[in-house]
Amino acid sequence: MTADLIGKQVKVLDKGWIELVDLLPHPLTGVSGDLAIVNAARVSFMGESKGPEKDKKLLFYLLRHRHTTPFEMVEFKFRVRAPLVTWWQWVRHRTFSMNSQSGRYTPFEEGDFYVPDEWRKQAASNKQASDGVVENTTNDDLTAKLLDHYARGFALYEECLQAGVAKEQARLFLPGFSVYYTWVLKVDAHNLMHFLKLRMAAEAQYEIRVYAQAIYDEFFKPALPWTAEAFEEYVLKPQA
Ligand SMILES: Cc1cc2nc3c(=O)[nH]c(=O)nc-3n(C[C@H](O)[C@H](O)[C@H](O)COP(=O)(O)OP(=O)(O)OC[C@H]3O[C@@H](n4cnc5c(N)ncnc54)[C@H](O)[C@@H]3O)c2cc1C
Repeated sequence: MTADLIGKQVKVLDKGWIELVDLLPHPLTGVSGDLAIVNAARVSFMGESKGPEKDKKLLFYLLRHRHTTPFEMVEFKFRVRAPLVTWWQWVRHRTFSMNSQSGRYTPFEEGDFYVPDEWRKQAASNKQASDGVVENTTNDDLTAKLLDHYARGFALYEECLQAGVAKEQARLFLPGFSVYYTWVLKVDAHNLMHFLKLRMAAEAQYEIRVYAQAIYDEFFKPALPWTAEAFEEYVLKPQA
């Protein structure tokens, strides 16, 4: 089951995706991620698995009491394609190891821009957030204008390249926040849970929330079912 996760790719937003490149421990070792966490904790007294019931109980104890280092024994490596508006927030998470496609090296293509499905209204209560959608007629009109804006920006970018301008500078003509970039990311389960808690939350921007949710549903939960259960119980659920 977990072996099938490696190489799996899920679609996010209009042109984005997430692919799991690798997992530690690798499924071929026969040691599941949950068990790797338990085994790491039991090294304190030089032991390992004591059967599923005791193992799961220990894992729940670890997360409940924030004994976090055993959760660093599991690592996920992803390739992610997302617009810059998403990366702008993702790169703030310093515990990820990251490498990015270079816009100085690889030229952008005409379809490399994010087009939202709908236009969200500015929230009245939270200056940072959106709330609901603007009316349909305005939606279509704004999308048409956005596509026109992208087409004009891209035409100027190409004009620059044809005039011999370097890619690193020609990209100034591209609509910055919309450009799709591909990154490779590596993170351990402890720090991934921190990211997921912050970025799956309702206050997070939609364009990063959908990536966090897809990582959780499509990769984290299937790879670490006990940890996900404990995470929902002790981290996501507001404690009394
Ligand atoms: C809804 C929302 C709104 C936001 N709005 C803004 C905004 O308006 N402006 C803005 O600038 N940012 C904003 N941020 C980003 C936020 O301030 C954090 O930079 C981001 O969420 C990463 O969190 P982090 O530092 O906990 O995570 P990570 O960088 O992944 O770090 C994980 C943990 O490691 C520890 N750590 C890592 N590096 C250090 C260090 N150098 N020193 C001490 N401890 C460290 C901390 O305990 C930290 O919580 C927002 C985030 C969210 C979720």
